[in-house]
Amino acid sequence: MTVATASRIEQLFTERFPKSAELYHRAQQIFPSGVTHDGRYLKPFPIYAKSAQGSRKTSVEGHQIIDYWVGHGAMLLGHSHPAIVEAVQQQVARSTHPGACHELELEWGELVQQLVPSAEMVRFTNSGTEATLMALRVARIVSGRSKVIKFAGHFHGWHDNLMHAAHPPHDESDYEIPGVTDGVSEDLVIIPPNDLAALETALDEHNPACVIHEGNGTHWGVVPASAEFLRGVRRLTEERGIIFILDEVITGFRVHPNSFQGFCEVVPDMTTLAKVLAGGLPGGCLAGRADLLQVLAFDNPLGKKMKHPGTYNANPLSASAGIAALNLVATGEPSATSNATAVALRRELNGVFAEKDARIVAYGHFSAIKMLPDYDGPRPDRDDFVPFDGDWRKLDRSFDQSLSHAFRCALLLGGVDWMGWGGSTSLAHDESDIDQTVTAYAQAIDLLREDGFPV
Ligand code: PMP
Repeated sequence: MTVATASRIEQLFTERFPKSAELYHRAQQIFPSGVTHDGRYLKPFPIYAKSAQGSRKTSVEGHQIIDYWVGHGAMLLGHSHPAIVEAVQQQVARSTHPGACHELELEWGELVQQLVPSAEMVRFTNSGTEATLMALRVARIVSGRSKVIKFAGHFHGWHDNLMHAAHPPHDESDYEIPGVTDGVSEDLVIIPPNDLAALETALDEHNPACVIHEGNGTHWGVVPASAEFLRGVRRLTEERGIIFILDEVITGFRVHPNSFQGFCEVVPDMTTLAKVLAGGLPGGCLAGRADLLQVLAFDNPLGKKMKHPGTYNANPLSASAGIAALNLVATGEPSATSNATAVALRRELNGVFAEKDARIVAYGHFSAIKMLPDYDGPRPDRDDFVPFDGDWRKLDRSFDQSLSHAFRCALLLGGVDWMGWGGSTSLAHDESDIDQTVTAYAQAIDLLREDGFPV
């Protein structure tokens, strides 16, 4: 990949977002690399948002930007949805933390039970990371075994147990995570995604406590997993009595009111949820078989209690937003609309890439839109097209960092905030957003080419 010498994109970006540049200068004195989430790091600097409404956020400079980050996937309803705003405003005056059981946690938990097929019982956490951490501990206590099988590329949060192989490159030398002890690493068995034969072999060889699978596959479908594959995982684990955890932190309530498991008609033993669950506020949960979640109960028949404190578990503000969100999710409209908008956007974007003869392709399922640069394969001929026939090593790879940063900046210049090489739609995105996004992509390709990137 050619790296630009004189960057026109960087110059235009600095001129358009001067206040963000100033704030970032301040941020660098406070936060490592000036950011509070690795994904928000951007060269020469990230933009700062002042507010967000519907499908758009407004930068501190006052520029309206179509948002495809959608709160890292949480904002399925769009930003500041009136139902969420009202619920949270009412609750904030009542109590933000009574340090007690409260009725809203019941309503919130019952909605999870109604919507998620595997949710016989529920325990709230503060994030998706905590939910997958809890799932593993529950599985280990119940099974009395310690090994965990995960799929290469799948992301489950940032705790020690599952960070390995969450990102490319996928050669084994990279499977060491600084700060994670050998003991933890040795308990993890990493197998290729979408490979039932590899799963079967690993199950028999390692007799693990559990298998964990990321919703619809690697990083929200970069390497999509099919319903058929998920059914295969269910069958192989069930035959051996091994716990199957489906991590629906991003797919939960987003792809379908009953989540990816509802769409696939597969019932895992336990499900991890967050993001849409809490309507844009912090919150997560573990949901699953009552006999498994019983390890969290006092005086349970196993005679082993899993300790679970957590100051903000089932926080009433998150509960109020979550209830409002899940009541809307239950209508089916948020998932249906955002899925349909994403289909239309993927088609339009592939149209622009063909017109401009760009080495890039858009693909993805549900409300996800993935971009694959350096692409020289055939153009998509159907909506469920997956490049390279789903070859995971070709889909889940790292890209040139200078191109990645320039790409995001070029899109921001056209008023589009794309989440790295992926984006998601929400209930609030509409045709005018699609039109503007397509125009922004066309301009971004021109700018990237001007700067010497062979897109
Ligand atoms: N699992 C999946 C599938 C996720 O997408 C994420 C977050 N992107 C997590 C777990 C971690 O969730 P959180 O960021 O809330 O800790």
